[in-house]
This record gives sequence, structure tokens and C-alpha cells, in this order.
Amino acid sequence: MKNLGNRLEESNTDEVFLQLSEYEETVARRERDLELHQIYAQVLESSHRAVAVIKLNKEIVWVNKRVEEILGYTSQECVGNYISDLAFGQETNMLVLKDALETIQKGKTAEFEHILYKKNREPIWIRAFLKPIYNNLNEIDKYCIYGQDITKEKESAKAIKESETRYKDILDSISEIIYKTDAEGIFTFINKAWTNVTGYDIEETIGRNYLDFMTEGEREMSITNKKNVIGNQNNSSQREIIIVTKSGEVKCLELKTKPEFTERNEFIGFSGILTDITVGKRMQYYQELLSNYVSDFVAVHDSQTRYLFVAPSIKDIAGYEPEELLGKPSFDFYHPDDMDKVKNFREGNISGSSDPSNTITIRYRKKDGSYTWIDITARYFFDTYANAYRTITAAKVADLRVKEEEAIHKALEEQRHLNKVKSDFINFVSHEFKTPLSVIKATTELLQIKMERKVQNLEEHIKEELVSIDNEIQSLATLIDDVLRVEKIEAGEVNMNPKVLNFRKLVENSVQKFSTRQDDNRHVTFNVFGTEKPVFIDAKYVEIICNNLISNAFKYSKGRPDPIVNLIYSESDVVLHVIDFGIGIPEKNKKQLFSTFFRASNSKDVAGTGLGLSIVKKYVELMNGKIEFISQETEGTVMTVTLPLAKSN
Ligand code: ATP
Ligand code: MG
Repeated sequence: MKNLGNRLEESNTDEVFLQLSEYEETVARRERDLELHQIYAQVLESSHRAVAVIKLNKEIVWVNKRVEEILGYTSQECVGNYISDLAFGQETNMLVLKDALETIQKGKTAEFEHILYKKNREPIWIRAFLKPIYNNLNEIDKYCIYGQDITKEKESAKAIKESETRYKDILDSISEIIYKTDAEGIFTFINKAWTNVTGYDIEETIGRNYLDFMTEGEREMSITNKKNVIGNQNNSSQREIIIVTKSGEVKCLELKTKPEFTERNEFIGFSGILTDITVGKRMQYYQELLSNYVSDFVAVHDSQTRYLFVAPSIKDIAGYEPEELLGKPSFDFYHPDDMDKVKNFREGNISGSSDPSNTITIRYRKKDGSYTWIDITARYFFDTYANAYRTITAAKVADLRVKEEEAIHKALEEQRHLNKVKSDFINFVSHEFKTPLSVIKATTELLQIKMERKVQNLEEHIKEELVSIDNEIQSLATLIDDVLRVEKIEAGEVNMNPKVLNFRKLVENSVQKFSTRQDDNRHVTFNVFGTEKPVFIDAKYVEIICNNLISNAFKYSKGRPDPIVNLIYSESDVVLHVIDFGIGIPEKNKKQLFSTFFRASNSKDVAGTGLGLSIVKKYVELMNGKIEFISQETEGTVMTVTLPLAKSN
């Protein structure tokens, strides 16, 4: 104050006032500055950033509260100490710090991120802004640092990076191609599967148009498809495309693509997935080839023998469309008579007891109801895709072969039959001819002896023996006639000379002839029903027919009632019934009754050759008639011959 008083003394009043006001201004300014200083300090204190003033030699001059919170040191622990001692550590990047200090020394601000250590030595990431501070000499001796804890940010960035890497790894490890294009169709992203499938590197693909990788034909379709898809925002499209790989191979890919739009509906490109289906496609193609060009009827059946797959060749073989058979049991299509064979075959296949190359020949019902012969092979296998047992069958039409075999079989049968006829004939001749001949021989020898001995009543004896010789000769002659007839029939040399005749008369002759011949005095009871009408027949053969039937009726009914012969005329034909009440025909012999040399098992005691009925049947048929019989063993037999009437003009 003394100084001030002196000065006041030395100056005039105005000056004094002037100086006084200057002084007051200075004081006021200082107060304002102080106030501002406090405000700044408060502002800095309340900043959510850590703020510190540090000397170039790293000595801490001032820190705000946030520093305390972030680092865990109190402001007293900080001020006067070196930041490097407190918060630097192993992972702190000193180079970055060095660069930053160099920058602020040039009067510039620096920004960097680095790791600091808390009081508890836990590392944290700090993003720091450094600003130089000038002293009174206008030199930079300190800097202010604004720090921000970015540990969380760093951690999530790291997590994102990791998940991106993982995501990329996944994208690169899947076999589907995933891509993005821009609006022009230029690839902007594609994963590694693309390289695996096409041989093109990612680098040489990105930036190129997808059309460059397509065949000419595909390109046009792709352009049309692109227009259609863009036209409809929700439209994703799926189709198969063909591409040519870098090495020139053709591959088939399944394309699923979706157009992408901005919020303002501007088309910005495609994203999509491509799946390599070349192998499956090729298999499908081969399967089609197999189905269409292999004429075998290939089918797969489930465990219930139902059709699961039927090759199209079934159409040519049996007239069905494959779809018509699906789900139906294959056993329904086999001939009932072949079912045992089919079942055995299947059992053998399932049990593995039969050779897998075995074939059976069976009949298969066609769509028109007729049957075709097929040679069929089958394999029983486990279908891993269906987790069930299946049977695959392959069949070939065998009609021709079966017909040939049948023809051969028939020829063989005929040959066998002929051989049998021959041997039967020889047996028959040797037996049947020998008997009468030996009788004749014995009779003549007896006669000779009688003549030598000049027996009494020689003439009587001669007469008697001659009758018996004549009888034997007669039966030999009949036999020879029959044999010759059979021979002619076999050779197809029967000459019919049919004329319009009275059938009743012919039958009656035969009836009378036999009625007078019987030792036991039996007769035929003869009846005619209906109006007699002329019949177009050959008398010679009718006589043979009647003789044999009536002779049989007597022969096989000794000691039984009289046989009956009925003749019944109707509108269109005449029916001859020859009825007896004799031994009948055993059931087991009925089928063969008309065969040459056949004799029923119950007729051993009755003389006969087994030729009569075979001749009768042939003659009846040659006159357009038919012969049938009903018979009951020990009860009797009814032989029925039906002949057509002569046409009226
Ligand atoms: P033949 O050649 O002399 O007529 P067959 O009488 O033995 O000899 P078929 O007339 O062809 O020969 O008859 C064949 C067989 O049929 C006979 O052997 C006999 O067993 C049986 N048969 C035929 N007719 C009768 C019948 N009326 N009653 C019982 N069996 C009969
Ligand atoms: Mg007979």
C-alpha cells in the first residue's frame, strides 16, 4: 500500500484513478480467470473421459476423477509420479507412445490406442488424444491427455473378428457354393466351394459376370430368368444349370437364387446357393437309359412283394404303364398254377439257400388278361436308404423259348407214344396171335393123331375140330382187321364214304346179331325215341361202332340184366345210348379209356384187345360226332354217341 501511496503522491488524480481502475480491472480479470479456471477444472472433472496433464518427462501434473476410476489410483497417488511407473506394462506399445510424443512436440495433436495397466495390474485398452500445452515461454513442456476406456469395444471387435473368421471357415468348408452378385451380375462374393466345383479361383471369379461361366444355351435362359425374377420381388427361383469347369468338364448344378433390393425397391443384385448335383444327375440319366433301353423287365419290390419301382419296359412286355403297378403286390400278376414255384423261389432267395443266378419260368398276366411266359431272376437285399429289405427282379419274355420247348416236348411225347404203340403192338401180336395159332396147331395135331389111329366117328371129330379151328381163324381175322384199322387211323388213311342213311336200321342189325349170339340167352332191349330222320353216315363204320359198343355191353355184364340200346332223335342230331349193368369202369381208368390197347384194371377176366373203343372214337369223330360215357364201377356203363343229322336239302 505504501508503494501505491507513493505512486499516488507522484501522479495526478486522473492518473491515479486511471491506474486504480487498471488495477481493479486486473484484479477483476484475475478473479474472472480464477473463476474460469475453476469452471474448467469442474468441467474436466465431470468429463466422462479421463483427463491428465503430463510433463514431457512423463511426470503427472494433474488428473481428473475419471482417471482415478479407470486406473484405480487416487489423484494424490498420481500427481508427482511418472505415468510410465504407474500404468505402463508388458503390453504397452512404447513405439506408439514415442510417435505420439514426437507429434505433439511438433505442436500437433496425436491420437492412438494402447494398453495401460490398472493399479491391480489388470490391462485396459485406452484410446488417447494428446494435445500439447505451452508454457509462458511458449514452449511445449507438457501435454494434456484425454483418454477413453475402449476395452469393451476392443473385446467386441475381437469377438466379431473371431466370429467372422469362424463364419468364413464355415462358409469355406461347406460343399454348397454361396455367392452374391451386383445388379450387373458381377460376382461380389463367392465361397471356396466354387473353386472345388469349377476349378476357378475366388480371385479370378470376383469381378466377373456369372454369365461368363455358363454355356451358350444357359446364358440365354439365365437372362430371361433374371428379368422374370427381378420383376417379382418375393420371387426366388430354383432351377438346374449346366456350367463348364475350368478344365472343360460339364457339371450340373442346382441353382437357388434370390434378387436383393434396397429399401427404395432398387434391384441391387442376386444372392444364391449352387449345389453340385452332377453325380446324382448322371445316375438318374443312367437309370433312364437303363429303363428305356434295356428290354428286361426290372422291378423293385418291398417286403410285402409290392412294386416300388417298375421299369418302363413293362409297357412292351405286358402293356401296363409303370405307375399302374406301383403299390400292387407282384404276386397278383403271376399265374395261380405257378404260385408254388414263385413262393419256393422267394423263400430260397430270402434264406440264401438258392443260387442267386437261379431263374424260374412262370406266367405273367398281361393287361389284356392273357399270360406271357417270363424267365425271372431275383435278388433279396437290404436297402440302406429305406432301412428295409427289398427284392429286385429282372425278367425276360420267354414265350418263344417255352413254345419251342413245348414243341420239343410234344414231339418227344409223340415219339414216346409211337414207341409205346409199337412195343404194345409187338407184345399184343406176340400174345394175341399166338393163342389162336397154338389152338389151331394143337387142334390140327389132335386131328392128325385121331386120323392115324382111325378113331371111331372120325368124321364127327373132324367136323368138331374144324369148327373150333374156324372160330380161332375168325377171331384172328377180326384181330387182324382191328390192327389194320388202327394202323390206317394212325396213318390218317381212313376213307369215309358218307351217305344219307337210316341209322336205326343199322343199329338194329347190330342189336339182332348180338342178341342171337349170347350163350346166356340175353337180348338187347332196343328203344327208339323221337321222329326218325336220315343221318349222313358211312354204313361200314357205323356197323363197326355199333358192334363194338354192343359187344362190350354184353362182355362186361355177364350174369347181369339185359343191356339197353336207346336211339333218340332230336332236332339237330341223333343220340345212341348203349347201356349195361355190368362191372363198370374204375374211376382211375376213365381218362385212358379211348387209348389204343388200353384195358381197364377190372377186365382181366374178359377177353379183349383194347382196340375197339379207340377205333370207335376215331370213326365217330370222322363223322363229326362225339362219344362220351358215364360209368360207375360194379354198377354199369352208359356209352353215348351223338351224330349230326343230314342237312335237309
Ligand atoms: P376189343 O378190342 O375186342 O373191343 P376191349 O373190349 O378190351 O377189346 P375196348 O372195346 O377198346 O377193348 O374197350 C377198352 C376197355 O374198356 C375194355 O378192355 C374194358 O376194360 C373197358 N370197357 C369198355 N366197355 C366197357 C363196358 N361196357 N363196361 C365195362 N368196361 C368196359
Ligand atoms: Mg370191345
